[in-house]
Amino acid sequence: MFLEPDFNLESIYDIDISELKSVGIKLILFDLDSTLMKSKSGKFSFKTLQFLNDLKTNFHLAIVTNNKNEEYISKARSQVDIPVYSKAKKPDTKVLLSACKDFNVEPKYALMVGDRPLSDILGGKRAGMATILVDSISKDEENCIVRFARFLERLAIKK
Ligand SMILES: [Mg+2]
Repeated sequence: MFLEPDFNLESIYDIDISELKSVGIKLILFDLDSTLMKSKSGKFSFKTLQFLNDLKTNFHLAIVTNNKNEEYISKARSQVDIPVYSKAKKPDTKVLLSACKDFNVEPKYALMVGDRPLSDILGGKRAGMATILVDSISKDEENCIVRFARFLERLAIKK
């Protein structure tokens, strides 16, 4: 189905670096909230920062978020040494494609990683990128309404 991600992983830590390298991925774009940090927390965990640092030795990295809160974004920027693109309006492709341009990487060699099928995955696919859907980084702490919304959204991507 058109919304089906190339990979569906439990978490960002399950990303297989050697597999991505073998298919020629050069740039990884990450969603921010619920993918790299707990939603609205404004803070990366030490584990995530370590993970991003390790990944950086193999790939170009960037964060592409729909978040528009400049204060929140600058707090996120201050914690990582990778570019953060805000107000992306995913599934719009404009910001995703300009990130590729900034790194001089063709979209087919870029990968979009996110927790939302209808924004992250759809946007990545429309931009011609590989896609990985991950579970929310804080799924165990989410309330039942959020969980139900996620369940419904994931139903939409089942074959
Ligand atoms: Mg998200």
